[in-house]
Amino acid sequence: MSPTWGASGVPVVIVEDDTVIGRHLQQALESHGYHTSWFRTGQRALEHLRTCPCEVMLLDLGLPDSDGVDIARQVRAEFPELLIIMLTARTAEIDVIAGLDAGADDYLTKPFTVTVLLARLRAHLRRHTTNDQAQPASTVLGALTLERSSRRVFVDGHELRLRAKEFDLLAALADQPDTAVSREQLMAQVWDENWYGSTKTLDVHIAHLRSVLFAAGANAGGRMPTITTLRGHGYRLDAPPREHADHDGRHPETR
Ligand code: CA
Repeated sequence: MSPTWGASGVPVVIVEDDTVIGRHLQQALESHGYHTSWFRTGQRALEHLRTCPCEVMLLDLGLPDSDGVDIARQVRAEFPELLIIMLTARTAEIDVIAGLDAGADDYLTKPFTVTVLLARLRAHLRRHTTNDQAQPASTVLGALTLERSSRRVFVDGHELRLRAKEFDLLAALADQPDTAVSREQLMAQVWDENWYGSTKTLDVHIAHLRSVLFAAGANAGGRMPTITTLRGHGYRLDAPPREHADHDGRHPETR
């Protein structure tokens, strides 16, 4: 089988204690051109990462030596650019949120098919390597400033720590403030242009992004944009009211 687009030699660390699942993942990814290293414990994987640069980590949440959430936190702190996808049999939203909060970029709920995993990997890697050239360098919406080139977000000068997907979502919504953006459009733009299946991951990411923005804007006095849910359609980023525009009266500004 010829390597899938973009997969040629991409180094992937698999952290999975289940032999059947680990072997299956390794074989599937190798046959699609990825270069894999498989570990059964989080600590072994961490040691490997310190000596051998990787682009992607597939991380089981239930590990023998430690909780995958803790591993995700350690890995994220040491390797901010690494793409972390959690593999979890836990479906409770609280577990997913905890994992994303610890620094994972995405998650897949077991059982998942290799087709879905490969599609998700392709989408992530494409996002990782292509920056949208056509977008303005930064967008200012009240207290919030989003810088595309550096992928940084500030609220009144204080930087927010957003995960890759949260930044992509916020950037997609901020491209068109006060405009309804459909679920399909967001899934295509942030995840995969050929997305199919559940869009639950979108809601989970939006919920977390919303809580981060809410907490960051606690002292912004109404100068924060808010994410409005449009039932049956998608989401809209509402710019703060004009009386709350920033000091120069710039509102909303894209430059
Ligand atoms: Ca496990």
